Amino acid sequence: MTSELEKAWEALGRHSVDGRHHNSRLAMATAVANLLKEVEPGSRNGLREGLQETPSRAAKAWEFWTSGYDLNAADILKTFDDGADGYDQMVIVKDIPLYSKCEHHLADIVGTATVAYIPNGKIVGLSKLSRLVDMHARRLQVQERLTKGVADDLDQHLQPRGVGVLVKARHMCMESRGICQQGHHTITCALRGALRDEPDARAEFMALAQ
Ligand SMILES: [Zn+2]
Repeated sequence: MTSELEKAWEALGRHSVDGRHHNSRLAMATAVANLLKEVEPGSRNGLREGLQETPSRAAKAWEFWTSGYDLNAADILKTFDDGADGYDQMVIVKDIPLYSKCEHHLADIVGTATVAYIPNGKIVGLSKLSRLVDMHARRLQVQERLTKGVADDLDQHLQPRGVGVLVKARHMCMESRGICQQGHHTITCALRGALRDEPDARAEFMALAQ
């Protein structure tokens, strides 16, 4: 099987990758090939033509879907001090697209995240908020931990007056197996500082985030 997969990698032009990634991709591709042989009875004695390159393609895709493990919040949230002339009102980025994988079934979690903070002298570029969401989404997740992780990172690295994160997502492991009806959303929310403790700030966030 290994040499078969090595050939598939070369066909995809993956032969020049460094040793660590090469070994990791090969291990993932081998695991996918074994999975395919179990899920499709006709493939037990060898993958049919349409599935030949699936293990290497799937391994490459999984590497992307879990690329959040290679990132850390400190690098993403490099701040600039007082870059906004003392702006001290809520900054909110709404409906950031979110694609993750549930850690229980490896099924898709698809939704949006709305992220807000009230600066306390430190701000970040707005695109960094969606990069932070991507970092957490591109790991195996439960929605609650994803939501809390984004809020905790902002709290720790920006030390803002307040943080609010609202995630609204659909879970394919539930919908596709008939456990809940299609189109239902799960909503999770993590609030810190003023957004948790001050009713006006909290109400402003909730109104903007809905
Ligand atoms: Zn699941």
